[in-house]
Amino acid sequence: MELTAEELWSKIQEIARASVSEQSFRTWLEAPTAASLSNDALTIKAGSRFHGEWIEDKYGPLLSQCAHRVLGRPLAVCVIAGDAPGPIPFPEYEYEPPRNERPVVPTPGSGGADPLPFRPQLNDRYTFDRFVVGLNTQLAAAACRAVAQKPARMYNPLFLYGGVGLGKTHLMHAIGHELLSDDPGRRVAYVSSEQFTNELVGSIQNGQMAGFRRKYREMDLLLVDDIHFLEGKERTQEEFFHTFNALYDAQKQIILTSDRPPKDLPGLENRLISRFEWGLVVDVKAPEYETRMAILRKKASDDGLTLDSEVIDYIAHHCKSSVRELEGAVIKLLAYSSLTHQEITLSLAETALKGVLGRKGDEGPVLSPERIREMVARRWRVRPEALASKRRTKDLTVPRQVAMFLIKEKLGTSLVQIGELFGGRDHSTVIHSLRRVEEEMAKDPEFKRQVDDARSELDTPS
Ligand code: ADP
Ligand code: MG
Repeated sequence: MELTAEELWSKIQEIARASVSEQSFRTWLEAPTAASLSNDALTIKAGSRFHGEWIEDKYGPLLSQCAHRVLGRPLAVCVIAGDAPGPIPFPEYEYEPPRNERPVVPTPGSGGADPLPFRPQLNDRYTFDRFVVGLNTQLAAAACRAVAQKPARMYNPLFLYGGVGLGKTHLMHAIGHELLSDDPGRRVAYVSSEQFTNELVGSIQNGQMAGFRRKYREMDLLLVDDIHFLEGKERTQEEFFHTFNALYDAQKQIILTSDRPPKDLPGLENRLISRFEWGLVVDVKAPEYETRMAILRKKASDDGLTLDSEVIDYIAHHCKSSVRELEGAVIKLLAYSSLTHQEITLSLAETALKGVLGRKGDEGPVLSPERIREMVARRWRVRPEALASKRRTKDLTVPRQVAMFLIKEKLGTSLVQIGELFGGRDHSTVIHSLRRVEEEMAKDPEFKRQVDDARSELDTPS
């Protein structure tokens, strides 16, 4: 059956529609049109580069799966933006509904017959060029550049830590890109700790431990993201310990990120913590006002967007907690403007971002997800960072669910973003948490009182 680009795209839309919320579908997937179809790729056209990138980030895997389902063979899906010059190609994904965010990288050498060169999954946009250095990230950025110039000579390992959405993953990928552009033959691996764990478990089950070990121990550069996820996972820590030693002894560079410094990771073995401290431990902090302005300007110019300086100033003024939050605000504003067919002005920004950015003007501190998380942590006597972690102990589960609930109620933050604020949980976990809080409040008056007290603290300007 020969399909035209339009027919194929409309079938993909139909399948995708059943997998996402109606609102997401309307906002992101309804408007793009089919541009062209070749043997290897379907190209679709989105309104702006921002839309394109958003679709790529959030829906790339889904669209590839849908295309595969329609055609019965893999097909790359590319987005071009109405206002941008080049296509943004999607990586090709395996067809299976993967719960992992990233596809599994091929294992060199393990299958014997696998001729594929090793390709790390690095995000093309996470380069040094696109990283705006401010006071908050000066040290981290300088350390990363130094490592990129002299891997395994200056700081090994390099350990970057800080809150969600502040640029740790971006910097880590930037080093990978730099080393590969110097020498494309270098073996670079990027994995989240979760992926490392899953791969390890899979290899144990399939009796392929030798391949797993070889893969990681033969790297020139190993990037392991969100290492705090290994807390409490003893078998994975043990394996990682040996990988670390092998690479370190062979003078290969290791880079790690975490939401906390090594000494605040009690669920990790001491021998790992001490190794993490051998090199350089450096924090990545939230950007201050000037840096927020610079980041917004850079994003606008990189993406061919016109944003008035008063709009940029408005967002920079109100969006304080992370770079991801800044990006989210711009995306929301663009979506709002395209859905309501209005030009982006200061007053449109105020309307569109009211819920996201808290109160208008400067009366009192702006309500942010982080503030809510901290308040709940204080009331439930746990550490805010622990709430943001993946740990599942009972003392954390309840306050975490309450914090998610209040963030949704007060700020209308999206489920995906809430998931990200709490250690990268997926949106179905967030939905479950919100329901649990409602059910418990209906059942347990004491619990309801606690939640109401927290609510009223948020309503009272401090
Ligand atoms: P983290 O890993 O710390 O949670 P990320 O590296 O994923 O954060 O960054 C979140 C988003 O913000 C990414 O899209 C990234 O490109 C962007 N970003 C973060 N810091 C900067 C910066 N200093 N300049 C430009 N973009 C940034
Ligand atoms: Mg990250």
